[in-house]
Amino acid sequence: MAMLADAAEVNSYAALHADFRWQVPDEFNIAEVCCARWARDTPDALAVKFAADDGCAAHYSFGQLQRAANRLSNALQRQGVQRGDRVAIILPQRFETAVAHVAISQLGAVAVPLSMLFGPEALEYRLKDSGAVLALVECAVLEAVRGLRAQVPALRRLIVVGECEAGCDEINWMAALQAEDARFTAVKTKAEEAAILIYTSGTTGPPKGALLAQRCLIGNLSGFIASQNWFGFDPAAPGKGTQAVFWSPADWAWTGGLMDALLPTLYFGRPIVAYQGRFGAEKAFELMQAQGVTHTFLFPTALKAMMKAVPQPRERYPGLKLQAVMSAGESVGDAVFAYCQEQLGITVNEMFGQTEINYIVGNCAALWPARAGSMGRAYPGHRVAVIDEEGKTCPPGVPGDVAVHRRDVHGMADPIFFLGYWGQDEATRAKFTGDPADSWCRTGDMATVDADGYLWYQGRSDDVFKSAGYRIGPSEIENCLVKHEAVANAAVVPKPDAERGALVKAYVVLAPGFKGTSRLVGQLQGHVKSRLAPYEYPKEIEFIEALPMTTTGKVQRRVLRLQEEERARLATIK
Ligand code: ATP
Ligand code: MG
Repeated sequence: MAMLADAAEVNSYAALHADFRWQVPDEFNIAEVCCARWARDTPDALAVKFAADDGCAAHYSFGQLQRAANRLSNALQRQGVQRGDRVAIILPQRFETAVAHVAISQLGAVAVPLSMLFGPEALEYRLKDSGAVLALVECAVLEAVRGLRAQVPALRRLIVVGECEAGCDEINWMAALQAEDARFTAVKTKAEEAAILIYTSGTTGPPKGALLAQRCLIGNLSGFIASQNWFGFDPAAPGKGTQAVFWSPADWAWTGGLMDALLPTLYFGRPIVAYQGRFGAEKAFELMQAQGVTHTFLFPTALKAMMKAVPQPRERYPGLKLQAVMSAGESVGDAVFAYCQEQLGITVNEMFGQTEINYIVGNCAALWPARAGSMGRAYPGHRVAVIDEEGKTCPPGVPGDVAVHRRDVHGMADPIFFLGYWGQDEATRAKFTGDPADSWCRTGDMATVDADGYLWYQGRSDDVFKSAGYRIGPSEIENCLVKHEAVANAAVVPKPDAERGALVKAYVVLAPGFKGTSRLVGQLQGHVKSRLAPYEYPKEIEFIEALPMTTTGKVQRRVLRLQEEERARLATIK
């Protein structure tokens, strides 16, 4: 761990919290702050830069975004969509997806963003669960959605985006929008009103629908306001005097893509790059260079791939304008942190949050120094602590559950909280300790906090395990393994063991050109032994082609853990 901060730094951090006051109006609408105000003030300013692998490119202004959204709001109304109704968006990164969010929000309906990568089962689950009455569907998934209509009776209509033929009870996007007026009077929504129903990644079990209020965007923006330097945005005069361009490979259907990329970029009146194509490490750098991207959100899996494939990005892509990198979703770790610092000249802003409360902790290069390997400090406006099972605050160094309080340091309600899990009241209650209005919200993630308020991630509660009485947080071991040149990625899980309860087992994906020999196993074990505590080295290493991942690019350790349990069970039967 890094040295303690000096008194002046600690005081200035405390002052950030003391000076920060939430301003949540009674009425608030995401479409107004992300689009309408720019369409009025700077209608020609660029909002979406579309780029596709096939060479297609197009630019759209805030004025165009607003007009298209107005037409869509009218079209949705014509189809009977009412305030509070759920409307699914099954679209990739493209202009129409931004249009859909603005249109649905200004209508007071609830957007249900769904990934294009979902197979029929995943789509059926979420469409059924959300009770969506209408879906905006891209051609590529049209067949899959058509096939589900009988199982999802609440879904009355599809509006089809793209060049494919709409069926008789489906509507073509272009035709529908052309037929509508480009003016629309936005509904005046309450800040507390439901705006987005977004599903968690499903890393630990079936995904849950988190219902977000309009005001959640305000809660989310604390991180941006605290960290305005890394966006180069000026909250006092957003959109003016800055050339920031944002791109993230994160799917806009995921909280990382929607709440950390699309909506905040538009909120600040800056353009977002909508890229359609496959993610690749080289491709990411090429795209950022070609599009003049200054700010990006890259999930750790992507950064790891970029670190391995392009060790010296500044030399290889001299035109890169990148100024800021934010990362979240998994632990960034000090290897990736060092890569960004040394090879990109950027202190990566790690952030931590969840679909339900996105995001609460992070780094902010100009306001407080980042510590390699730490996921950062509580952003102003969020009272964050590590708590024990009874809900008591753990002292520095003692691991516990990362939690955020309903009320900030001034006793004001923190606007970041989701309204609840859709149709799962019991699960919503279980997320909070005690009185819902004045309680801690548990993240289910384990960490320690140091004396200066920096959080050090250990793993999800379900992924942290004990081996011979020692608590093992997979994150630190995985991060250590990734530092070895032969390792592209790694996941650590418990392997049931009669003597020790569990052994530390690592699944390792090899970097190109390496072979999984027993000699390499020994080397990797030695590599961990020489860097971490003796009980942390993996007693067993298994090489694997690819780790099980969610569609949001997260390692599903649960799958590997269950595999180990199943193997142990079979071994006892034999
Ligand atoms: P599910 O809740 O369905 O199992 P999920 O928790 O992965 O899926 P998300 O809401 O997309 O769904 O992800 C939030 C989780 O991602 C956090 O609870 C945490 O486990 C992990 N996470 C986010 N940021 C970080 C970070 N900086 N370091 C470590 N883990 C992180
Ligand atoms: Mg979760």
